Amino acid sequence: MGYSYLDFTVAADKSVKKDLRAGHWPVYRHYCVVDPAEGVIRCTRGLDPGLVQELNPEVCRYGEESVMLHPQRAKVYGPGFYAQGPYVVAPLWLKDVTQGLTAEVFWEYVNAAYSYSPLSYPDMFLEFAGLADGGEITLDMMLEWVEQYGVLGFEGRECRDIDPQVPLLMGGPHDSLLAFDSEARKANAVLRLYEAATDPKGVDVESIRRYERWFATKPVLREYGHRMDTSAGLRDAALGWVAGTVRRKVAEDCHPELYQEADGFRIGYGFKSLVGAMYLQMMWLMTATGETRRCQGPGCNKVIDFESSESPKDPGLRKNARGRYRTRTDKRFCSDNCRVKNHQQAKRRAARLQ
Ligand SMILES: [Zn+2]
Repeated sequence: MGYSYLDFTVAADKSVKKDLRAGHWPVYRHYCVVDPAEGVIRCTRGLDPGLVQELNPEVCRYGEESVMLHPQRAKVYGPGFYAQGPYVVAPLWLKDVTQGLTAEVFWEYVNAAYSYSPLSYPDMFLEFAGLADGGEITLDMMLEWVEQYGVLGFEGRECRDIDPQVPLLMGGPHDSLLAFDSEARKANAVLRLYEAATDPKGVDVESIRRYERWFATKPVLREYGHRMDTSAGLRDAALGWVAGTVRRKVAEDCHPELYQEADGFRIGYGFKSLVGAMYLQMMWLMTATGETRRCQGPGCNKVIDFESSESPKDPGLRKNARGRYRTRTDKRFCSDNCRVKNHQQAKRRAARLQ
């Protein structure tokens, strides 16, 4: 007797569901990118796109059949803005099971997930926002991010509520490159504007101006337009937009959550998308009473990391972290570039003193 697609869907569902309820997010071992016109075009680490497509036709055919398997998905099939172009998805099958399958190798054939607690990585927002510093966000950048942290979760987002019947967060048309790119750019504008407006050395007018197209919205202009020719007015306008964006994202994608544990109840956060969890981190950054550390590079005001009294200390069930970069406590610079610039400036200063 063989296993059916449904058996695995149910098995995978059972394995991740309880973790999700505790503010955890699943990361699958493998992901692939599907181009709506060409099918599976790219996969993570050594997986053959052709084989993945053959074994998982449903990843390219978000039509009637997969609606039957995932009735909750039917609701989000509407042409949402993000459901355009290539998207990321976790395929269920990794190897051809018709070649004979034994229980021992079963998990080699199926794309299993582990989970972690996004809120335990308080610099995730900094990392996500930083992706857009270099200009274009590519498919590879998205795939690398997703392999590390899971999908952003726009696929099925509308059906993700307090009901524990959560979807599997395996991605789909709404977890598109368009969605990833738009969200990373917006997060970039939020963070860089916040840094420039709250620079301890004074308002960084030049950097704020660079992002003007983001914050010069009608509501911001109505409130601050008459004094945006001063640096204080420009700072307030930028911060007004930053606060509004953070407020909206947190309100839309996060909620207080009641967790039931063996020894009683605990309050925490739940979120509909990974973007929601990241904006919660941004909100903590903006309200942090502890010291928010800045890069000491010449002319740089980037936030390096921050301590938050609210972020949980428990790193969660995150196993198998692949070379995740952790902020060192003695870190002083945002990049090698700033470290080198600082070193050169110190050398020039020393030379002048001689
Ligand atoms: Zn720097």
